[in-house]
Amino acid sequence: MRIRRDRITRKSAAELDKMRRVGQLVGEILRDVRQMVGPGVTTLDLDRVAEEKTRAAGGIPAFIGVPGLRSPYRHSLCTSINEEVVHGIPSSRKLVDGDVVGIDFGIVLDGYVGDSAVTVPVGEISDDVKKLLKATEESLFRAIDQMRPGNRLNDVGGAVEDYVEALGYTVVREFCGHGIGRKMHEPPQVPNYRSRGGDSNLILREGLVLAIEPMVNLGGAEVLTRSDGWTVATVDGRPSAHFEHTIAVTENGPEVLTLVDQTNYLTTAGL
Ligand code: MG
Ligand code: MG
Repeated sequence: MRIRRDRITRKSAAELDKMRRVGQLVGEILRDVRQMVGPGVTTLDLDRVAEEKTRAAGGIPAFIGVPGLRSPYRHSLCTSINEEVVHGIPSSRKLVDGDVVGIDFGIVLDGYVGDSAVTVPVGEISDDVKKLLKATEESLFRAIDQMRPGNRLNDVGGAVEDYVEALGYTVVREFCGHGIGRKMHEPPQVPNYRSRGGDSNLILREGLVLAIEPMVNLGGAEVLTRSDGWTVATVDGRPSAHFEHTIAVTENGPEVLTLVDQTNYLTTAGL
């Protein structure tokens, strides 16, 4: 994400309350949408349900109207299938057994934004891809565990990089996580690897809220943007996984604002 040089904000208790509310709504609707996934379902079906539930709850889909290379985004979800990494556009394509679909979702409620993503298996998937999904979600939770006062931003991305690269996977470097609050994309940028520039040495403090979103590939790290101006896919055509949560740094450690399950979902799903 391209983010203007703006100030990094820390949220007050009242703001965190609002972010908790929108975060929980994102988590609940994403869980409902995730449970719809199966062979024969289209990604537009998922998108319609996400939008209806969002508006019924008084929220606004956060992705609609986001400016793109060619045109503003028109959907509530990004749905990225198999070798698609992020920003896939919902369509009438039917999911088939063995696919994986990344579902990325954001809501604005009462002026604050929540952002979360999961990659969901369709029917039976190969062991290789199952392991990729589990590793990517695990890397997100390892990064979340670094969201403690006194740690540095590089500890967050470093946790992703260390875990997935040791397993032979690669980290997408062109896209990253972000600060979040009144706007979906606020500073700082949150790369999924250790970096030198930017805010890499930023010390994490209470009230900082970040969307952490590892994008991890089974093959090479290289990605391209397709001619639709949105869909990002791996260059080698091999599968990719994406998981995201919105997390606040608190004095007691990380609070995952978009988490509604007791634990991470792949474990819950018994994968
Ligand atoms: Mg997202
Ligand atoms: Mg995000």
